[in-house]
Amino acid sequence: MNQQKVSVIVPAHNEELNIPTLISALADTFRTLDYDYEIILIDDGSSDNTLSVLIDQSKIYENVFYIELSKNFGKDNALKVGIDLSHGDCVITMDADLQHPPSLIPQMLSLWQQGFDTVYTYRTNDNPHAKKSQKKTSRLFYKIINFLSDIELEDGIADFRLLDNKVVSQIKNVTEYAVFLRGLIKWVGFKQIGIPYTPAKRHLGEASYSFYSLIKLAINGIMSFSVKPLYLATGIGLFFSVLAVFYIPYVLISYFSGYSVSGWASLLATIVFFGGLQLMVLGIIGMYLGKLFMQAKQRPNYIVRSSNLVNINHDLVKF
Ligand code: UDP
Ligand code: MG
Repeated sequence: MNQQKVSVIVPAHNEELNIPTLISALADTFRTLDYDYEIILIDDGSSDNTLSVLIDQSKIYENVFYIELSKNFGKDNALKVGIDLSHGDCVITMDADLQHPPSLIPQMLSLWQQGFDTVYTYRTNDNPHAKKSQKKTSRLFYKIINFLSDIELEDGIADFRLLDNKVVSQIKNVTEYAVFLRGLIKWVGFKQIGIPYTPAKRHLGEASYSFYSLIKLAINGIMSFSVKPLYLATGIGLFFSVLAVFYIPYVLISYFSGYSVSGWASLLATIVFFGGLQLMVLGIIGMYLGKLFMQAKQRPNYIVRSSNLVNINHDLVKF
């Protein structure tokens, strides 16, 4: 048999209730397709029984594998370890909570057969399960990231995608700190195509992302792909310096005409305003410096505690 192999990679954080349903949904999908496939599930430091569910499932199905991370490393790193250890002809990444419909997989595979290297998905605007405020913040995030960085991300682009081997081997080579996969995959190029999808409702359990972690993710997404905020900071600084040059004659005239004390309020306002501005600019520079600091340490993006993947090699897993 010369079937092509698909590696399905699923990060899971507290998903004990969803894993068996996901595996059987994938089995149903692949039954109708002429592909060999494996499912690699990554336990991203869950505090529930996700790991034991994964181990049980890997004993039932010979094409189900698990990777246990030593703690919670976040979804992108969990996806990265799965990609790094996969060896299919293509990789499909998807969420464990069945929000990414497996019924889309046949279409993704057929686009891959037509020669596309990356088939990514983006949420349609009429997503019935998202709150209005969620949709608004999501749209705002993509607007900001597209404005500030050099890559173009579709509104609502998801971590549900198919990657050809060529793309996968490029991603494997990337060892940057705090990977932002959605951006990175756009950045590597190759032949890409996006298809819209309507996300399903989360099957069971609760979403892991808090508002704070989403903000962190957004800042990381922007900073991984752009130094524009630094230019912006310089621009703002320059603008106000020029403004200050025009302000000096006013100060001098007030002084010589004896009205200098009346400027107290405006002086205070100026100090507070510029103080805030300076702190903001320093903050931006500091965040980039922090990223450099973390990168310079060359720590691995993830640490594997255990796995039933035969090709596991701890030296390879760490960068
Ligand atoms: N996830 C993970 N590590 C985390 C947070 C989430 O592996 O630290 C997984 C989670 O199990 C799910 C996917 O990432 O498979 C998406 O997470 P979630 O459903 O919580 O987020 P949302 O649907 O809001 O994007
Ligand atoms: Mg979800």
